[in-house]
Amino acid sequence: MSKRSAAVCGSAALAVALPLVALAPAAAEPHRNAGDPASGTCRTQDDPQASGWSSYEEVAAELARLEATSDGRVEVDVIGQSAEGRDIHAARVGTGDRVLIVQSAVHGNERTGTEALLGLLNDLATGNDPDTLRALEGLTLVALPIANPDGLELNRRTSVLSWEDVVEQYPQLEGAPTAWYHRASNLGIDLPGFDLNRDFNPDLDYVPSPEDLPGVGTDAGFFLAPESRAVRDLYLDLRDEFGTVDAFVDLHHMGPCNALTGGPQDGRQISVALDYPPLGVDDGAAYLAEWPLLDQDASRRHALAVAQGIQEAYGEQSPLAAVGRYLHPDEREFAGQGRSAFALNGTATVLFEVRGQSHSFGQKMGGMLTQSVQTGLESLVDSMATGAVDTLDGDDFFDMPDYGWDTTAD
Ligand SMILES: [Zn+2]
Repeated sequence: MSKRSAAVCGSAALAVALPLVALAPAAAEPHRNAGDPASGTCRTQDDPQASGWSSYEEVAAELARLEATSDGRVEVDVIGQSAEGRDIHAARVGTGDRVLIVQSAVHGNERTGTEALLGLLNDLATGNDPDTLRALEGLTLVALPIANPDGLELNRRTSVLSWEDVVEQYPQLEGAPTAWYHRASNLGIDLPGFDLNRDFNPDLDYVPSPEDLPGVGTDAGFFLAPESRAVRDLYLDLRDEFGTVDAFVDLHHMGPCNALTGGPQDGRQISVALDYPPLGVDDGAAYLAEWPLLDQDASRRHALAVAQGIQEAYGEQSPLAAVGRYLHPDEREFAGQGRSAFALNGTATVLFEVRGQSHSFGQKMGGMLTQSVQTGLESLVDSMATGAVDTLDGDDFFDMPDYGWDTTAD
């Protein structure tokens, strides 16, 4: 948990990572995020086997080991099963009044977050330094290293579930259109499934109804998949226990070629992009009448705690600290994402988008990005445990660089 140990790991990663992320030359084209993965400064490898990432069985075994060796600090629960019958694990650590849920791999091919969570849990399970003890005392962390086990095992984005099986479970949907975020196949794998990160609804008691289908991208989802229902149920259980869930973090990956615009690393490839909930114009003002607990500024404060922690740990010139804002034009609106649904219920939510997909980079770059994610999570844990996150100015989030989407073209 100590920033010192993070910095040591960062130095080691820096040495191996520099050739891949050397300073980008000034680009001729106006949009510097239009990079080419096949060449240049954002060159990626292509490892479709996704070697180097933990399998579902390996993650389950590591969680069991952590529970067995943590002297009672870590408790691992099964919060549900995937459509193919794999257990969905949640690891809980800490005894504080504030509650943080961190979810990874809801998109099964986005996996740095899973490794980062195992590292974070290991530190919290075994550390006896003052920072670790303060975190355990001030916070209750519930980690979901693999929210989409079936997708992870296929190394693809979507879950595995046929529409026929959905209708079998919800007979009222017989004859209704298929939900817009259900796919017949994904990444060349001919199995149907859901984009689980569109399957959430701010009405946490929502029951699927045929007149709501197929739905639209800007609106809420329908809790049609067992994986999203398991996450919803975990949220409700924690809200019952603590009164509120303070924060929810969702760990993802993005494209490999997005250069920061502005800031101390102007022009370099972004490593981790952060975001608050995409709920349309005026900070989601249209939702406030029905969902008065929405607090976009609280989400931005939590995102800032992540970003500042990464920059303090590595120094603002380090490739590990190439942090910026994720794509967020005013009109961007995805009410069916988990982070949006929970935010509308009063939880501060932060999206991590890590550069590249799991197969985009070799193990060295993957390890470096994993380290950045873990450091960001450690910073948020510390900031929530101490209450420092409450003292940040959420408007400072907008001072962070983006990667060219926020154009002011004339
Ligand atoms: Zn994703």
